[in-house]
Amino acid sequence: MSSPLYIKINEKDNVAIAVKDIKAGTPLMEGVITRQDIPQAHKIALCDIPKGKEIIRYGVVLGYAVDPITKGDWINENMLELPTPPELDEMRFGVNLVTDLPKPPTDTWEGYRNPNGGYAGTRNILGISTTVQCVTGVLNVAVEKMKKELLPKYPNVDDIVPINHAYGCGVAINAPEAKVPIRALRNLAKHPNFGGQLMVVGLGCEKFTVDMLLDEADISPDNVIILQDVKGFEAMIDALMNMAEKKLQILNERKRETLPLSDLLVGMQCGGSDAFSGASANPSAGYASDMLVSGGATVLFSEVTEVRDGVYLLGERCINEEVGKRLAEEMKWYDNYLEMGGVDRSANPTPGNKKGGLSNIVEKAMGSIAKSGTSPIVEVLSPAETPTKKGLIYAATPASDIVCGPSQLASGIGLQVFMTGRGTPYGLAIAPVIKVCSRNEMKEQWDDLIDVNAGPIATGDATIPEIGTLLFNEIIEVASGRKQCFAEKYKLHNDLCIFNPAPIT
Ligand code: CA
Repeated sequence: MSSPLYIKINEKDNVAIAVKDIKAGTPLMEGVITRQDIPQAHKIALCDIPKGKEIIRYGVVLGYAVDPITKGDWINENMLELPTPPELDEMRFGVNLVTDLPKPPTDTWEGYRNPNGGYAGTRNILGISTTVQCVTGVLNVAVEKMKKELLPKYPNVDDIVPINHAYGCGVAINAPEAKVPIRALRNLAKHPNFGGQLMVVGLGCEKFTVDMLLDEADISPDNVIILQDVKGFEAMIDALMNMAEKKLQILNERKRETLPLSDLLVGMQCGGSDAFSGASANPSAGYASDMLVSGGATVLFSEVTEVRDGVYLLGERCINEEVGKRLAEEMKWYDNYLEMGGVDRSANPTPGNKKGGLSNIVEKAMGSIAKSGTSPIVEVLSPAETPTKKGLIYAATPASDIVCGPSQLASGIGLQVFMTGRGTPYGLAIAPVIKVCSRNEMKEQWDDLIDVNAGPIATGDATIPEIGTLLFNEIIEVASGRKQCFAEKYKLHNDLCIFNPAPIT
């Protein structure tokens, strides 16, 4: 089978994207011959587009032609004018509620049930929270020693992870938006992979005090070490080692058991996207997401600036007006946040996105939304909030990979699925990250970093349901601990960059 040269997503589209680099003068389809060399993933005009007229992909207006475009032209990011963002006060809610979702091949997995209920763990980890960056140096020395001397004695424990971050002091702790980083750190301390074991290291003079991080009932010498209360470095290390060992003894008793999918919480994110992301990787993730949801699991998708331009499509999928209004609120909050910084959503696409054929944020958003599949949206969360419903949930976070990750972890995800077109070796210490690429060339380039290749969809060699089912199975295998993804195998752990929209002092 000869692979097609282009992908056209929607009948209304007046552009297609190149499946591979195409030379000028190549007949593309009846009546369309390329007029320039077209780089892989970039757009080709399928008809003449007069100045000021619409450029359409995914059936939506990506922008307006800055100058007249001729049939067969390469359309790059400099040739579109961005449309105004969709209205937030006139969205329709609950008018596109799809119930006919693909059935999953299994409705169970193997996870660690938690003593306090809630979502189950996918890994068994000793997580050590901190109230301030000042303790990081000491804690890191202790963690290295713990991993060497203690961890081998407790074979059922997967890892010891310090929750180091830049928050805690030198911050406007009473600013209204300080609730965002504080909520993130509170929820991270109780992540389902930590088995309900709390261990906190504080300094003693910081603004973010232990009572802001833990519930009152959890504050005790069994769970908290304040370095300024300890006499000297050696004693600090001893105290940390002793507390860690007690926690490890308890964690070592945790056992996996067969659980329903309703105990599984999965996050979806994309990063380093290209124009294929919305045609191959993200739709296959959307298919896997629909399977998870139809099996009873909960799936989060996020990244505000990358849904903003398609928000009306999400509004239609919100189960009721209450959920829809929460969606609009989160969008407005972010519009305002960007405005205060003197920018708007057009600050989003990166040079790499553009090189990968994504002209602007509208095109990026349409591809990004595809990862949410078709399921109804049952709840909308502010950054780092934990779900109260099961099903597909919109968890508002920045789109930045390294900020979205910790926000979703704070919401309790046991695993993240990460789609990429350009490639990033991203990973998280607290939960496995399965990486899905959008093109065969990406898989060839990084065969030992990309877990699932959705490229065959772009070349017509596989369908979205085929790769989506493969990805679903991968999610179950990794969540159940029967398989390690590459980011986990190599310990590719990005720093925990906690979203702090409040001022630093
Ligand atoms: Ca991202």
